[in-house]
Amino acid sequence: MISSQGIESKDQSVILIGFPFDEYSSYLKGAAKAPQAIRDALKSESTNSFSESGLDLSIPDVLKDFGDVVFSSDEYVSKIGTSIQGILRNDQIPIALGGDHSITYPIVKAFHKKYPLLNILHFDAHPDLYDEFQGNRFSHACPFARIMEDNLVSRLIQLGIRTCTQQQRDQAKKYGVEMIEMKDWTQKFSIDFEGPIYISFDLDVLDPAYAPGVSHHEPGGASIRQVLNVIQQLNCKIVGADVVELNPERDPFGITAMTAAKIVKEIAAKMIQNR
Ligand code: MN
Ligand code: MN
Repeated sequence: MISSQGIESKDQSVILIGFPFDEYSSYLKGAAKAPQAIRDALKSESTNSFSESGLDLSIPDVLKDFGDVVFSSDEYVSKIGTSIQGILRNDQIPIALGGDHSITYPIVKAFHKKYPLLNILHFDAHPDLYDEFQGNRFSHACPFARIMEDNLVSRLIQLGIRTCTQQQRDQAKKYGVEMIEMKDWTQKFSIDFEGPIYISFDLDVLDPAYAPGVSHHEPGGASIRQVLNVIQQLNCKIVGADVVELNPERDPFGITAMTAAKIVKEIAAKMIQNR
């Protein structure tokens, strides 16, 4: 279902857009159910619509919902690309709700046309830099190899990595990826960017104790407060984001969906404040 709500006017709103797609997950399916779970958590009466900085995201035209874009794997690049381009054309700011991490490559490909000097801040336990994985070059383990290979961004900074294979280390070196591994993530942390940034947030960057509802449990991860500190300290223009890899089938009591909703709220508030 594609709704056209919110795509007609030039209003600089933040637009949620769901991609319920997990065909390119390598280990477990389930991420396709995530967009609805995140929306439900955002609307949960157990909390309210204010960001920590005091912005009320329920004010009309601040945060809108485009709905879900449903597609088959052979339409994956075109359908994601077209829908993101439509939002960017209206000067709106998309936050994509995955889906697995494979959605990031077509999204960034669409961004490149408008933002040739884009930077990516990528939160993840995994570098997702495999040239191919299980015979699939579009696997959720590969999006950043595709992005770097196509020269779509100025800088790629990866944060929270703790599963890096030698092949992916070689890829990171080849493409000039800046990797801040979890073991080197100190308490005081800030990153400066020149130019606009795109945030790609894989929920498995968080320790599974905080976010168990993901397909790949990698112990030794970040706390929710650690990632919020990084997001809240950003002082550059944030032109887009995705929040990916929630697997509601692995999520006791919806705790990870609630975490995903919190991340969406704080990113959206920062986008509006730094607009
Ligand atoms: Mn990932
Ligand atoms: Mn990951």
